[in-house]
Amino acid sequence: MRFENYPLLGHNTFGIDVKADSFVEYTSEEGLLSLIAGGEIKEPHLHIGSGSNLLFTKDFNGTVLHSAIKGIESTESSDEYETLTVGAGVVWDDFVDYCVSRGLYGAENLSLIPGEVGSAAVQNIGAYGAEVSDIITAVHTISMDGVRRVFTRNECEYSYRHSIFKRSDMKRVFVTKVEMRLCKRGTLKLDYGALRSELEKLGGEPTLRQVRDTIIDIRRRKLPDPAEIGNAGSFFINPTATAEWYEAAKERFPDMPCYRLPDGNVKIPAGWLIEQCGWKGKALGRAGVYSKQALVLINLGDATGDEIVKLSDTVRKAVAEKFGIEINPEVNIY
Ligand code: FAD
Ligand code: NAP
Repeated sequence: MRFENYPLLGHNTFGIDVKADSFVEYTSEEGLLSLIAGGEIKEPHLHIGSGSNLLFTKDFNGTVLHSAIKGIESTESSDEYETLTVGAGVVWDDFVDYCVSRGLYGAENLSLIPGEVGSAAVQNIGAYGAEVSDIITAVHTISMDGVRRVFTRNECEYSYRHSIFKRSDMKRVFVTKVEMRLCKRGTLKLDYGALRSELEKLGGEPTLRQVRDTIIDIRRRKLPDPAEIGNAGSFFINPTATAEWYEAAKERFPDMPCYRLPDGNVKIPAGWLIEQCGWKGKALGRAGVYSKQALVLINLGDATGDEIVKLSDTVRKAVAEKFGIEINPEVNIY
């Protein structure tokens, strides 16, 4: 499938009205290989998923690609585990629902994260103390040179919201399928945010389905629905700092929260920093800071990508001036 001068408005959750010179979609690995061999992918190129972590600031003068590789296949099974090989174009939350419906543990804390399975493996999506890299065993790819390669989990270089596929030199590598290993007798991860307290209200030992439903419920209350308010989730990554920096900062800002990291550093919630700068619920032109979660920047209606970037820069400057710490966008800006 190929289109010229193609509108991207329906392909980015920020709701930015831009176009791509061309847009191609493929439904199989063979389909992608023949697009490459036929020279159908003109440079520059950009592989997108459902556009829930993208911010376009201008038309894309090149080829935008999209995977419509579907399918969830059980490729290995034992008494303890089930390995599922999943097409990059499967909607992430459909996959989570598939797992929960079959009593498979490991994906439930990542319920209702927008996007597709391929991008989940690129982004190393995370929520409520879980990351997709906890369950990924391998990532199948095809490069612009037409070379197939399966990356083992270790080769994916996963860390907090990062993978090898986010590196600029890896933008010629496209994820086609992802292998994930789920547990048949797992344990639930509940010690995060409001999750445990919400589940306690239900009484008894929580089930897999209750965890999923509770997370969906919390997220629906706290986050803007992109179908109603344009956004790309958390605009910034939580910054990390040394324990010494944090101790010094605490003398000036005694309420500053932090979470200890395994490497001895600390993570500071960026939403708190932004709120302390007075930006929660505020707007700059048609771009705003969401009133229920300051980490989320929103499109108040027909904003351009540049207006969102201007707000982002203003917020970053305010945080740097008040706290002496940098916050950087998580969202991919083009
Ligand atoms: P896109 O935004 O289209 O692309 C993301 C990146 O992946 C781009 O760099 C793109 O080039 C690359 N990419 C996409 N597909 C491929 C492929 N097949 N091969 C190679 N590269 C590819 N994120 C979290 O981690 N946790 C959350 O809890 C969370 N909550 C969110 C809530 C809301 C309301 C919104 C709008 C976003 C949220 N996000 C969250 C961010 C977003 O959902 C994730 O980053 C998601 O993985 C993006 O998926 P996508 O399919 O929309 O990818
Ligand atoms: P929250 O629970 O109010 O927590 C605020 C921040 O504190 C989060 O950024 C989270 O870090 C951190 N945090 C909370 N409890 C923690 C713990 N026990 N250990 C370590 N860190 C802790 O956050 P929220 O906005 O409602 O989001 C809930 C979850 O969904 C979070 O995990 C968040 O990352 C995820 N989420 C992500 C996006 C996105 O676009 N990336 C958007 C919405 C929600 P972490 O962010 O590192 O988890």
